[in-house]
Amino acid sequence: MNEEIIKIPQATAKRLPLYYRFLRNLHNSGKQRVSSAELSEAVKVDSATIRRDFSYFGALGKKGYGYNVNYLLTFFRKTLDQDELTKVALIGVGNLGTAFLNYNFMKNNNTKIEIAFDIDPNKVGKKIGDVSIYSLEELETRLISEDISVIILTIPAEVAQRVTDQVTTKTNVKGILNFTPARLNVPSSIRVHHIDLAVELQSLVYFLKHYPNDTEIS
Ligand code: ATP
Repeated sequence: MNEEIIKIPQATAKRLPLYYRFLRNLHNSGKQRVSSAELSEAVKVDSATIRRDFSYFGALGKKGYGYNVNYLLTFFRKTLDQDELTKVALIGVGNLGTAFLNYNFMKNNNTKIEIAFDIDPNKVGKKIGDVSIYSLEELETRLISEDISVIILTIPAEVAQRVTDQVTTKTNVKGILNFTPARLNVPSSIRVHHIDLAVELQSLVYFLKHYPNDTEIS
């Protein structure tokens, strides 16, 4: 990582994949430049925030020209490690886990679910798409041999901490995308992003009811 990348604030870093996806589509359709207003409309982030975000990566839009799509794409690809494949494992092949295994993450970025784990003997040994499902007994050894750095957790909340402890003490896992409602304790070297779909839905319903005309606060 170079110094420029380290200076990017976390809130900006979180928006990078969103920008990246949109710019890639623009690039594929042959567009070479884009204004902050166009970007703002497409990604639903206000244009002042976009200008500030982009200034962190040295992309200074020119008045009447906008931003150079190729320059931004090269930067994003480098920053988001798009040239390097991140290997992901999924633990818990229930309804949500199965949906993720069927979803092609490679479409938009360079991450791939390589293997999956479950305790259900009816699922172990099967494949969903091209992803094999292994027993939890093989968790540590497979995570190490497959060089997995990211885990998606779609197991019941009650077992989430126990499985997390297994993953974080003996493997090279650096990040966990936690879809369980459990709040996980992890060593400081591990990063957890928590997505509780029930909470997100409830929060959307609350905002619709109480702030029906407001735009999203980013
Ligand atoms: P299903 O309908 O297949 O049971 P679900 O999403 O409704 O799925 P959950 O109870 O949330 O069911 O379990 C999700 C998956 O996690 C299941 O496939 C279950 O076998 C698996 N699972 C449960 N405990 C563990 C564990 N300790 N380690 C790994 N997988 C587990």
